Amino acid sequence: MSQGTVREEVDVLVVGAGLAGLHTATRLADAGHAVLLAERRPALTGAVRTTGILVRKTLDDFALPPGCLGPPIRRVVLYPPGLRRPVTLVSDRDEYRVGDMGPLYAAAARTAQAAGVRLALGTRYAGRADGVSLLVGPGGPARVRARSVVGADGARSRVARDLGLDRNRHLLVGAEEVFAVPDRGLPPAFHCVLDPSLAPGYLAWVVDDGRHAHVGVAGYAERFPGGLRRTLARFAATAPGLAGVPRPAEVERRGGPIPVGGLLRRIGCADGLLVGDAAGAVSPLTAGGLDPCLRLSDLAAEVLDEALRTGRPGALAAYDGAALRAAFRGRLALRRGLAQVRTPAVAAAAFALLRTPPGRAAARRVLFGDRSFPGARPAPAAARPAPAGARLS
Ligand SMILES: Cc1cc2nc3c(=O)[nH]c(=O)nc-3n(C[C@H](O)[C@H](O)[C@H](O)COP(=O)(O)OP(=O)(O)OC[C@H]3O[C@@H](n4cnc5c(N)ncnc54)[C@H](O)[C@@H]3O)c2cc1C
Repeated sequence: MSQGTVREEVDVLVVGAGLAGLHTATRLADAGHAVLLAERRPALTGAVRTTGILVRKTLDDFALPPGCLGPPIRRVVLYPPGLRRPVTLVSDRDEYRVGDMGPLYAAAARTAQAAGVRLALGTRYAGRADGVSLLVGPGGPARVRARSVVGADGARSRVARDLGLDRNRHLLVGAEEVFAVPDRGLPPAFHCVLDPSLAPGYLAWVVDDGRHAHVGVAGYAERFPGGLRRTLARFAATAPGLAGVPRPAEVERRGGPIPVGGLLRRIGCADGLLVGDAAGAVSPLTAGGLDPCLRLSDLAAEVLDEALRTGRPGALAAYDGAALRAAFRGRLALRRGLAQVRTPAVAAAAFALLRTPPGRAAARRVLFGDRSFPGARPAPAAARPAPAGARLS
């Protein structure tokens, strides 16, 4: 990093304007701190990485803009290799909605700016030396001194590396195609295929909410036969639930790494902290990260607010990944189990369990359960104030 004069001083520099960065920045600005949010993408509506499936708990607890949400989904169809004799599970509640992520990020950015966050788009965090961060934006390089840096820069976080915090090592990769579908009068559905020849260690999926179809595969990068893109093309050609639906020549493509090793242990230090994918805040089993990133961001903002206000060095101790991680043990064990399903024959045998009443009950608990990101509040929860304005709109 070049030596120059410090151009700017802020309370908090947040790196990355995904859901985690936007939410953390808003909460900190709401609490009265001067926040700069640097995002390397020139526009938040482009280069979306996620399918955007939001679970019921998120929809219940966070006020997401209704205009950015697809129709509710209650039906999940699980398929073995070969797609024969699927198991259909239907909830009596609305379980999922697919976020229209571009507009949703844009709405969250407006909320952040209204709270006082200064959003620098097209601005890349490029490193740190002597407590000063280097940002490279449309106007050239800028050196920023912040009392705290928040790494919300995704699964391969550079901030984590620069702050000497833990980094994600256990990753899946995912890719999907998104396109508009005609309304065929069918109930919105989430189709999941358990077949390691399509999705080694995870799932292939079709989410069809009657407006858009998301057709995707994810798994361990080194295990994709012929590569991720080719496997996605193979799956897309026979994707369940879309018979008779023409696939347009132009589709939106999304994808990226998904950390599934559980919450990292060291996610905070005197110079800053990590949130969202950067902190490994993703369910190791379902690979869902949107609910965890919002909840961990609430905790991060709360802890950081106290640290900044009081200057108490111990305040950040409440942001302890190792302690929070304990609640992931069961899901980490199931992740290890899923990783062992290496052939279609083993997947078919495992799938037979899903056809039994206990198997269906277990699947319902995972897919329709009330659990969400565990314990993402400092203990004892009752002794602390409720999070202020957990909102995105
Ligand atoms: C294919 C796929 C599908 C998924 N589907 C779902 C789903 O349906 N439901 C669900 O709950 N989870 C899903 N996930 C996981 C979920 O998307 C993530 O856990 C969540 O989006 C993480 O949000 P985040 O803000 O931490 O990170 P991100 O959304 O990755 O945001 C990080 C931001 O940091 C920016 N950035 C990175 N480096 C720098 C830098 N040096 N300087 C400035 N900016 C930088 C990036 O441009 C990006 O905008 C999916 C993931 C993938 C890959």
